[in-house]
Amino acid sequence: MTGEKDEKSEKTEDEKNARAEKAEKAAKTGAPTPGVIDCDVVIAGCGVAGLYCALNLPRALNVVLLSKEDVASCDSMLAQGGICVLHDPDDYEAFFEDTLRAGHYENRLESVDLMIRASRPIIDDLIKRGVRFARREDGSLDYTREGAHSRPRIVYHEDVTGEEITTHLLACVRELPNARILEHTCMTDIIEGFDASGRRVCRGMVALGPDGERLEIHADATVMATGGVGGLYAHSTNYPCLTGDGCRIAAEHGVLLEHMDYVQIHPTTLWTREPGRSFLISESARGEGAILLNGSGERFVDELQPRDVVSRAILDEMAREGSEHVWLSFERVPLETIEGHFTHILEHCLEEGYDIRREPIPVVPAQHYFMGGIHVDSDSETTLPHLFACGETCCNGVHGRNRLASNSLLESLVFAQRAADKIMRDRFEDDTAAQLAVAAKARSRFIAGSRAVTDVALLTGAE
Ligand SMILES: Cc1cc2nc3c(=O)[nH]c(=O)nc-3n(C[C@H](O)[C@H](O)[C@H](O)COP(=O)(O)OP(=O)(O)OC[C@H]3O[C@@H](n4cnc5c(N)ncnc54)[C@H](O)[C@@H]3O)c2cc1C
Repeated sequence: MTGEKDEKSEKTEDEKNARAEKAEKAAKTGAPTPGVIDCDVVIAGCGVAGLYCALNLPRALNVVLLSKEDVASCDSMLAQGGICVLHDPDDYEAFFEDTLRAGHYENRLESVDLMIRASRPIIDDLIKRGVRFARREDGSLDYTREGAHSRPRIVYHEDVTGEEITTHLLACVRELPNARILEHTCMTDIIEGFDASGRRVCRGMVALGPDGERLEIHADATVMATGGVGGLYAHSTNYPCLTGDGCRIAAEHGVLLEHMDYVQIHPTTLWTREPGRSFLISESARGEGAILLNGSGERFVDELQPRDVVSRAILDEMAREGSEHVWLSFERVPLETIEGHFTHILEHCLEEGYDIRREPIPVVPAQHYFMGGIHVDSDSETTLPHLFACGETCCNGVHGRNRLASNSLLESLVFAQRAADKIMRDRFEDDTAAQLAVAAKARSRFIAGSRAVTDVALLTGAE
């Protein structure tokens, strides 16, 4: 036994020495140290938040993105219903109020305002990047409605809006000469250091590569865009690999977290006895007229109330009846809407043996979305300088205690862009206004001046 142990530790010693020798050699020759990557910005996460942050950084910065599994395994790919947008200037008050009412008035008002004002330019930018949204016959955007929205203000692509957006953003990132994606690479920790004034700051992250090799990624700015927490639940609509890693690591470094108990349960996922990810029946199904029925075929709730209210009503009804699910009926939804708008839901249900055109389907609430997370300011910066967080893993206060349907893709994009802007301002703070203007123009955003007044424009007069 002892001999075996000695042999093992000798081998480890040898490995260590070989590694040190290699590193020394690399340092002398100027070659990169094995297992160490130097870049300007490292982003954990390739959902809409991570991708859009990368796209909004200037090309002068080297960017590394990590994806825990393959890039397709993220919740952004699953978003069905659509993405909110300010319908017209007169919609501002109503959009604001709907977001607050759904969030039980616990929302951060500044964040809601920032999101709504940025919504139209963000949608314009997505369209410029090739994202297709449903259109009316006259070519104008078609808007759908979901629970707790006082009017239609959601743009969509069939019932696969998330896939449409994420696939396009991914293609744009892959074209960037300054960015590279490392798939099957999992962030396990962050690296701390000190800046010139002795302040504790984030200096990058540690990750495990595809073969379990340890990577140290050194960066001036570190972004956590690691998505939600559904992987921690038995029944969730989320990818199982989304296990709140960003929040755990942040907490271990004393970074402030907020509202960790604000978890949204989606009222309608397809009931099944099979384990694994629950299939979502989009809220827009109810927005377009689908109704909830109990075991006796009776309606028991106003289907267009906020998610938490509808979920509670379903769970109460199930408890009252002693049933494992309730029913969702599409009998009031026109056939052309079912076949045109809910194509993938129709197909998936057919595969499971249910034809939504003819019969109600069994549905049950499941974990869906995380409103809490790593506390960030309006520039998406955490309480540890140079560490940013955006997307579902952060809490910027937009959603309050409960998210309004279809606000999360929008919120992720708006605040990912704000993180990129702040990273750029920090990075170029010692540069002249002229250099800053060049950097602003060189960013990969397609529309110059996509926001009415950008922070960069304020500093430089650019755009
Ligand atoms: C079924 C479903 C339907 C939805 N429908 C809508 C909708 O219609 N409209 C809407 O607005 N929102 C919707 N949402 C919510 C929305 O999709 C998400 O909130 C949003 O996409 C989150 O984006 P994200 O970039 O923060 O996270 P994600 O897209 O989930 O991406 C997370 C990324 O982090 C990576 N990651 C995680 N941990 C690590 C780690 N340790 N190291 C490295 N990488 C890591 C993952 O690999 C992944 O790339 C829906 C969600 C689901 C599940």
